[in-house]
Amino acid sequence: MGIVTKDLGIVLRRLDYSETSQVLVVFCREGGLQRLIAKGIKRGTKSRVATGIDLLETGRVTFSRRPGSEAQLGTLTEWLQESRCDAARCGLVAWYAAQYAADRTSQMTEEADPHPDLFDALQQLLDELSTAPPLLALVHYLLHLLRETGLSPQLTQCAGCGGPITRRPIHFSARRGGLLCRDCEPAYVEKRQVDPAALPLLTGAAGAAGDAANVASAFDLLDYHLTESLGQPSRVGKALRDALSRPRR
Ligand SMILES: [Zn+2]
Repeated sequence: MGIVTKDLGIVLRRLDYSETSQVLVVFCREGGLQRLIAKGIKRGTKSRVATGIDLLETGRVTFSRRPGSEAQLGTLTEWLQESRCDAARCGLVAWYAAQYAADRTSQMTEEADPHPDLFDALQQLLDELSTAPPLLALVHYLLHLLRETGLSPQLTQCAGCGGPITRRPIHFSARRGGLLCRDCEPAYVEKRQVDPAALPLLTGAAGAAGDAANVASAFDLLDYHLTESLGQPSRVGKALRDALSRPRR
């Protein structure tokens, strides 16, 4: 007999498993990441549209799993939709920003490791994407994700020597965990240059200008940090970049 758990969850990934089943990666508010199989919900007939659970949908989830079986799939037994992510209707940037956040969340958090504050931040992001500039909202969420997972970069002084960053160009090393001053920079192989205009936004400086170019630079730096720290890019990074480079309406 499995242990039955009720929680609030957001669907981070959705894989078709068979004609009638889906495997879902659900980020639960109290229970962290949960890999669940949903049987018999992907039903669609000629007279009835398919009624699967959508990506980035929030719902009240009930699932069961055998004790000590965290590595295996749990079984989703009930899903009551709380809210749908509207980002898809707000353009490609918003939609891929939402998917990027979901992807990085599933990469950065451990199975069954609870992060209720992060859950709330992700829910807030999904709500905001229809009203706020999507990339700026994503940058704020990624900073939260990095804080929660202990990977906040050092962006106010040199991560190598602790000294001030005064001369340009400024470099950043993910492995070192932050900015590098001109004296330290030559010693590091893994590094990239930083657009100084992105820094006020990333350090939460008062009056930081959130114009599009600065926001894009800030996102680039966080994306680089995440990719280097995790050893892998986001599956939707390229799609998000393509959407960003398209001319606006
Ligand atoms: Zn230094």
